[in-house]
Amino acid sequence: MSTLPLARRLQNVETSAIRELFKLLGKPGIISFAGGFPDSAMFDVEGLRQASAKALAEEPGGALQYGATEGYEPLRTELAAFMRAKGVRDIGPEGLVVTTGSQQALDLLGKTLVDPGDKVIVEGPTFLATIQCFRLYGAEVISAPIDAHGVQTDSLEQLMAQHRPKFVYLIPTFGNPSGALLGLERRRKVLELAVKYQTLVVEDDPYGDLYFGEAPPPSILALTNEVPGSRELVVHCGSLSKVLSPGLRVGWLIAPHELLGKAVMCKQFSDAHTSTFAQATAAQYLKSGRMPGTLRQVRRAYAQRAQAMGDALQRELGDAIEFTQPRGGLFFWARLTGAGGRIQDAGEFARRAIEQGVAFVPGAPFFATEPDASALRLSFATADVGRIDEGMARLKKAL
Ligand code: PMP
Repeated sequence: MSTLPLARRLQNVETSAIRELFKLLGKPGIISFAGGFPDSAMFDVEGLRQASAKALAEEPGGALQYGATEGYEPLRTELAAFMRAKGVRDIGPEGLVVTTGSQQALDLLGKTLVDPGDKVIVEGPTFLATIQCFRLYGAEVISAPIDAHGVQTDSLEQLMAQHRPKFVYLIPTFGNPSGALLGLERRRKVLELAVKYQTLVVEDDPYGDLYFGEAPPPSILALTNEVPGSRELVVHCGSLSKVLSPGLRVGWLIAPHELLGKAVMCKQFSDAHTSTFAQATAAQYLKSGRMPGTLRQVRRAYAQRAQAMGDALQRELGDAIEFTQPRGGLFFWARLTGAGGRIQDAGEFARRAIEQGVAFVPGAPFFATEPDASALRLSFATADVGRIDEGMARLKKAL
C-alpha cells in the first residue's frame, strides 16, 4: 500500500506485464520482435532536416512561439488534404485537432466521454495503452472477438445490445497487436450498428498507410459518405508516428464538432498545444511532397520483412504455431497450437525465448476480458531479414 494520497482512479490500472518484459530486452545480443516501434533506419532524416530548417527560416514565430490549442493552421490544412486524398470528405483545417501523438487523442476521448462505470467495447485483443487509458477514467472495458478479418460484427452487435456502451473503439486496419484487416462489408456493418444503436465508433488508424500490396478498404471515416446518418457517429485518430517519426509526436483527432470542441478544452489544460516546432516541421514535410516516396519505401521494406518472418515462422515453428500473414502494419499475431505436446503458454514461451536470446510479447495482456494465454505478438519492423531468420531459429530452440 502506498502512503501517498493517490487518486482512487489509479486503482483501476496497473503497470503492464509488458513493461516488465521490456526491462529484460537490454540483455546483450537479444534479437527483439517485442517492440511496437517503426525502424529508426527508415526515418527520412534528410527530408525532416530540410523541413525543420524551412520551418525556422520561413516562420520562426509560428515554429517557436506558443500556438493555438487546436493546432498549427498550416499543418491542419495539410492533414485535411492528406485525409481527403484517402477518400475522406473535405473536413477543412477546422475539422481536425492536432494532438501530441494519437495517444493523446485517446486520452482526450477518455477525458471527454468516460464516466466511472461506463462501458466501452474494444477488440479482443487491442492496443494495451488504450485499455489502460480508458480504465484510468473508470471505464469497464469489454472485448469483442476478432478473427483475421477484424472484429466479428455479429458478436459486436450482441455486445452492443447487451451493454449499451458509451462507444466502440476499433483499430480496423492492421490492428495492434492483431495485424488484422477489417473487410469492407464488416466496415459498413460497423457503421450500420453505430446508427442502429446511436453509438460512437472510434477508429484508431496509425497503420493504415503501411500496406504491402493492394491498398486496404476505405477507412470507416471515409465510408460515412455511404451510410446515411453515420457521419456524426465516427471519431478518427491519425498519426505520423509509424510512417514518419514517433518522436515528432504528431497525431490528430477528427470528431463531431461538439466533441472536438470539448477535446480542445481538455487539451488546453493538459499540454496547451502540441509542440509548434514539431507541427511546423511536419507541415513543411507534408508540403515538400516527399511523403508519397517515403511511404513507398517504408511499405517495401516492411513488406520484405513480413514475408521473411512468415516464411521463417512456417519453416522453424511449423505446426506448433498458427498465424495469418499480415497484409500491412508491423505485427504478426500468432497462437501456440500445443501440437505434439509442445508448450502452449505464451508467457512461459517468452521466458524461455529470452534465455535463447530472442524476445516477443505474450498476447494475454492485450485482452481487456477473456485473455488468450496461447497468443503472442511478433513485430517484424526493426529486425532486418538476416536477424529475422536467426531469431526464428532461436525461437525454435526455445520451443
Ligand atoms: N494507437 C495504436 C493502435 C498504436 O499502436 C499506437 C502506438 N503504438 C498509438 C495509438 C499511439 O501512437 P502515437 O501516440 O505515437 O501516435
